[in-house]
Amino acid sequence: MPSDTQTALRHLRQGNLRFVEGRTANHYSPENRAESLFGQQPWAVIVGCSDSRVPVEAVFDAGAGELFVVRTAGHVLAQASLASIRFAVEKLGAQTVVVLGHEDCGAVAAALAGDAPEWLYPITRHIRINEIDPSRAPEDADDALLAAAVDEHVRDTVAELREFLDDISPERSLAHVVGAAYKLASGEVHWLD
Ligand SMILES: [Zn+2]
Repeated sequence: MPSDTQTALRHLRQGNLRFVEGRTANHYSPENRAESLFGQQPWAVIVGCSDSRVPVEAVFDAGAGELFVVRTAGHVLAQASLASIRFAVEKLGAQTVVVLGHEDCGAVAAALAGDAPEWLYPITRHIRINEIDPSRAPEDADDALLAAAVDEHVRDTVAELREFLDDISPERSLAHVVGAAYKLASGEVHWLD
């Protein structure tokens, strides 16, 4: 892992701890906004779920210009998501990508239950739950089962992103990709790698 990634992950852990403990900074003052006029140099990309209970910048106590955030329901990687992530690592120089799943993810629950309406397929068909015994779903889709499915989907997304970035740049690693999941009540992020 490059030292820049270690620094980025340390910042993310420290920011999340401030969030959990209610010690967050005011990042969006008029002064902060004025500073952002000079351009952006985000030091991490967060690929997260659109769930309204997972406010990514707040979760990591990060301000304007710090995180490049790509969100879709269930953090599935649409073509536009991949292009956005590529832009952040190739053009903006972010060297760390975090896939952030979360507790009680409705998209993962829908994939697990297998009863999503057809219009949701662009989301659910990307969520492959391989390691969980399908005979248990959906009746036993309890919290622990869903949490395991979220972790599995995060790991799957991390692998997909690593492959995508390796294909773009086989000789040189563009970015380090790690997985994490967010707990709704405590606000804690736990890291999967
Ligand atoms: Zn979700």
